[in-house]
Amino acid sequence: MTTPFSTLVGQEHIVDVLQSAATASRSGIESQEMTHAWVFTGPPGSGRSSAAIAFAQALICPNDGCGTCSDCNAAKTNGHPDVEVIRTEGLSIKVEEVRELLTRVAWAPSMGGWRVVVLEDADRLTDSAADALLKAIEEPGARTVWILCAPTLHDVLPTIRSRCRHLQLRTPSLEVVTSVLINRDNIEPGLADFAARVSQGHIGRARYLATNETVRRNREIIMQLPLQLDSLAIAFHAAQTLVDLATQEANSSSDERDIREIEILQEAYGKGATGRGMATGGSKAVKELEKEQKLRSTRMVRDSIDTTLLDITTFYRDVMLVQSGKTESVLNADMRQQIESYATSRSSYSIILKLNALMAARAKLANNAAPLVTCEALMCRLAMP
Ligand SMILES: [Zn+2]
Repeated sequence: MTTPFSTLVGQEHIVDVLQSAATASRSGIESQEMTHAWVFTGPPGSGRSSAAIAFAQALICPNDGCGTCSDCNAAKTNGHPDVEVIRTEGLSIKVEEVRELLTRVAWAPSMGGWRVVVLEDADRLTDSAADALLKAIEEPGARTVWILCAPTLHDVLPTIRSRCRHLQLRTPSLEVVTSVLINRDNIEPGLADFAARVSQGHIGRARYLATNETVRRNREIIMQLPLQLDSLAIAFHAAQTLVDLATQEANSSSDERDIREIEILQEAYGKGATGRGMATGGSKAVKELEKEQKLRSTRMVRDSIDTTLLDITTFYRDVMLVQSGKTESVLNADMRQQIESYATSRSSYSIILKLNALMAARAKLANNAAPLVTCEALMCRLAMP
């Protein structure tokens, strides 16, 4: 039987918990299994938001969580009146946004079941936004369920997390990801193995790589960068290449969506219907949407640069594995020869310094540092022997 949880890969340990919570919620009796506030943690790509939405479906579905009815489908596409999924387009969730959310969800659920609020990036709440949210979680409406998603428990304020039930998602194993790509997405086994390996359990990224040739070609260019770094001039050039490719990848998915969103909004304000301009407030709404889109695009570029830096990290990780004689665990199996010869020409100590520099650059970018300057400093550091 398919359930909303069928799509969660390698997460059997939490599916049981969520299923019995959903069953308990239907009995109408207060029980330990069902709580009003949850925190789902896991690395990017582990499927925290898919798990949250699957749980929302199980709670609001009139057929005990079928995963296929109109309510389940509406919940999945953010079109259900009782399921609110908050995705952050900016770098942080501000207190005004939380206040607005709280007034919106203060009403009883329209269908009489549960009202579910999923906060996809609880780690991006500002301190004042988290405070505003805390009050709602301390005194939740009788039929409201909060699901917060974050990379780790430390990313959620202690006052909030102490009031939530915590579920930790696992990074699915290489074998699990490979078999999903082969069996669900019809990817050829060799390519599935490659994509699963280099994506390190990030199933969405693995599928994206396996199904998109341009993305694979760009990744190849990026993975050659560490091998080319032998002068400062090349380091600066490499930084520019990295930022350009990451920006291009981020924009390729957002450009079309941006245009479509604007068109839908313009239509809503009557553009084209009477041959005249938009109704009052139309251009202001369009301007606001454009501002939001710009924020989202900045964030997507940053996320894309971060993914690229993680890719480069796998190169140095592989070099260290080769240096310690563990060649069988190399992720970038297609570059084995290059990795082996690089490993003989560098000390393990210098590789550790490079890995540290990569982690430091990622942390700086997460703290809003300018992308190109950060990448230039990083590449210069990586170019040192
Ligand atoms: Zn259903």
